[in-house]
Amino acid sequence: MPIESTKQQGTQIERRTFAIISHPDAGKTTLTEKLLLFGGAIREAGAVKGKKARRHATSDWMEIEKQRGISVTSTVLQFSYRNRRINILDTPGHEDFSEDTYRTLTAADSAVMLIDAAKGVEPQTIKLFEVCRMRGIPIFTFINKLDRQGKDPLALLEELEEVLGIRSCPMNWPIGMGQEFRGIYNRTDCRFERFTERGEETQDIQVDDIDHPSLREELGPELHDQLKDEVMLLDIAGDPFDAELVGRGQLTPVFFGSAIANFGVETFLNQFIDLAPAPGPRQTDAGVIEPTNSSFSGFVFKIQANMNPAHRDRVAFVRICSGKFERGMNVLHVRSGKKTNLAQPQQFFGQGREIIDEAYPGDIIGIFDPGLFRIGDTLTESGRFHFEKLPQFSPEHFARVYVKNTLKYKQFHKGIEQLSEEGAIQVFRQANRTEDMVLGAVGQLQFEVFQYRMKAEYGTDVELHNLPYSFARWIETSEDIEKLNYDRHSIIVVKDKDDRLVMLFPNEFSIRLVLDKNPGVALHSTSYGM
Ligand code: GDP
Repeated sequence: MPIESTKQQGTQIERRTFAIISHPDAGKTTLTEKLLLFGGAIREAGAVKGKKARRHATSDWMEIEKQRGISVTSTVLQFSYRNRRINILDTPGHEDFSEDTYRTLTAADSAVMLIDAAKGVEPQTIKLFEVCRMRGIPIFTFINKLDRQGKDPLALLEELEEVLGIRSCPMNWPIGMGQEFRGIYNRTDCRFERFTERGEETQDIQVDDIDHPSLREELGPELHDQLKDEVMLLDIAGDPFDAELVGRGQLTPVFFGSAIANFGVETFLNQFIDLAPAPGPRQTDAGVIEPTNSSFSGFVFKIQANMNPAHRDRVAFVRICSGKFERGMNVLHVRSGKKTNLAQPQQFFGQGREIIDEAYPGDIIGIFDPGLFRIGDTLTESGRFHFEKLPQFSPEHFARVYVKNTLKYKQFHKGIEQLSEEGAIQVFRQANRTEDMVLGAVGQLQFEVFQYRMKAEYGTDVELHNLPYSFARWIETSEDIEKLNYDRHSIIVVKDKDDRLVMLFPNEFSIRLVLDKNPGVALHSTSYGM
């Protein structure tokens, strides 16, 4: 075993490293801001970026990126709260960049699933949830916007189960909604929190049990009876809280609130801190690495290039998995076998960044990338092992790419190779025609940024021809691929960067047809575990 003996690091504060997953407009920016306020990381609301970029056209977006540079494209927001260090992995606001978001989730130890009470489970939430499920990480649910009329809370729980297939355990329960919203009743400590529009201080009502007269007086007989009925129903028919099931991602604790009114957020944060997991062991090709292992290790999950062609600096974001990181330390870049010095590590704090001297498991550091790093690379202080490969995710847009000036062929290939290593785009090759490249992107905007960067950074004009596919599926079969029964006019087989076979489909129906016709074949929407 290349893994050093373990030594407990007693002095270090425990981390809670998580990402918020949601559909656009559910209130992620608002919730993040409120969480930061509790940590004292920002002084006023309105400081969290990410939102503004979303609705702009591509050119504007790039202009913004240029102005903001890498320091503002926040990747992690860190603050201390109670006796914990919180790392919120921020995910790109623009839904077209969900591939980046997917990969960011591999660096998280848990996820907060934010749901708009009026909209319920939305498409982007489903996709992100699937990534969390694949990793088996705990998922905590915050149902937002209770100050507006939304769906019935019981119906929302049903939706979690039916659409996502996850069981839920409400930690608190809302009383009324919208104009009638009165507050939440915390099931664990029988505490009623009165809703106030602007998060003004009010006195909670602490009772011994739900039948208490002071609660009845507060709510009036009708709402009180309704609360009692619903909570009784949850007690009898609902799932009890089970830390083990939560830990495996099979049961989600549910909290209700209103992010904008800063209501229910503190209660959520307090319980989340207690229930969410600390950084855990991570799988490598040489066995499991414990966070308590004294020797530093980590992996690159994101590479951020500066859009400004005058400064071609790239930052690689590293999730620390074990040991202690110290500024200036020499580490092994396992893939190349090269030693590299991590001289200017940066940590991101709200909108700013600062040079840091040390960091611990669960932390994310940004390191200057001289062009050495790829997504998924492992760094170690001692030992030669690799963390699990980061999966590739199914693109939803495909295009063939051509270089306009054939004299630029070399640049063209270099650009494509580097940008795909950086994870900016996925590259597939048609199995029998090595030169015929197919690019895949999760969002159309990703293509536009690719085109822009090929020109700006590699001096190459490229042309993209859209292809009529919408789904990629990694193929698992023991049979000869040539013998598979599928429609060769509408489906093509390509290879990904690691030579795994992938089928590109025009629609879901065609995926089902292939599965029906080829019983021995399994199709996967990511390369995870392959
Ligand atoms: P994001 O797209 O998920 O980051 O969502 P934002 O935080 O930007 O919120 C989207 C919209 O919903 C904004 O207009 C917010 O003011 C609003 N919003 C967020 N939280 C709440 C809430 O608790 N109640 C209500 N009524 N609106 C909210």
